Amino acid sequence: MLKINNIHTYYGNIHALKGVSIEVSEGEIITLIGANGAGKTTTLMSVSGVVPIREGEILFEGEPIHTRPPDQIVGLGISQVPEGRLIFPGLTVMENLDIGAFLRKDKAGIKEDLDYVLDLFPILAERRHQAGGTLSGGEQQMLAISRSLMARPRLLLMDEPSLGLAPIIVERIFEIIRKINQENQTTIFLVEQNANMALQIAHRGYVMENGRITLVDSARNLATNEDVKKAYLGI
Ligand code: ATP
Repeated sequence: MLKINNIHTYYGNIHALKGVSIEVSEGEIITLIGANGAGKTTTLMSVSGVVPIREGEILFEGEPIHTRPPDQIVGLGISQVPEGRLIFPGLTVMENLDIGAFLRKDKAGIKEDLDYVLDLFPILAERRHQAGGTLSGGEQQMLAISRSLMARPRLLLMDEPSLGLAPIIVERIFEIIRKINQENQTTIFLVEQNANMALQIAHRGYVMENGRITLVDSARNLATNEDVKKAYLGI
């Protein structure tokens, strides 16, 4: 479904991605794990078209997308849940959700997806008229995920959904990610520092260090790999 082929991404003179290749098949949850500053966010931003790549190519269902602007990439079915949630704090929950569907014209489908996300996160239904900025951190993450789902993506890019959340909320968020993948066949590309949780729900994983992929394997094998355990699982 997604093929990232030997991409190089820079911020000015900083060579952030140094020949990264990643493949994601339809229906998979893949996770990209690595330390702070390894290049995980940059990889997602390169796919969503927010940060341009300087070399290599990114194909979505065989079509090059690295030449397209971000709104067209969303239109093709790729939606990103950004790190730090980035919801609109002054807008209500409902207004935030409406924005997620701004490229769509199928009213019936939008209504269906709205019902789906409010069923997934009943707390958002309760708080539908409340300003996004007044929600708790966990609720804001739920809103950010829901807003991305309102675009009805086939590929969902998630950047550190567990960041800054209490363990019990993290578990709930990961359960929901698995549910979204299983119920909707939504393919998920999950960037996480919480490697422990990510490897529990992912099918396959990539390890990134200093802008390069250093390991690729099934999530099960990575979770028992001695180097991964030492570096990322705190075991
Ligand atoms: P984290 O887990 O901390 O978010 P990450 O693995 O997502 O880390 P990136 O945010 O992709 O890493 O950063 C990769 C490299 O690019 C780092 O060296 C970082 O300092 C640099 N970088 C990221 N964003 C910018 C920017 N806007 N301008 C300059 N350098 C940047």
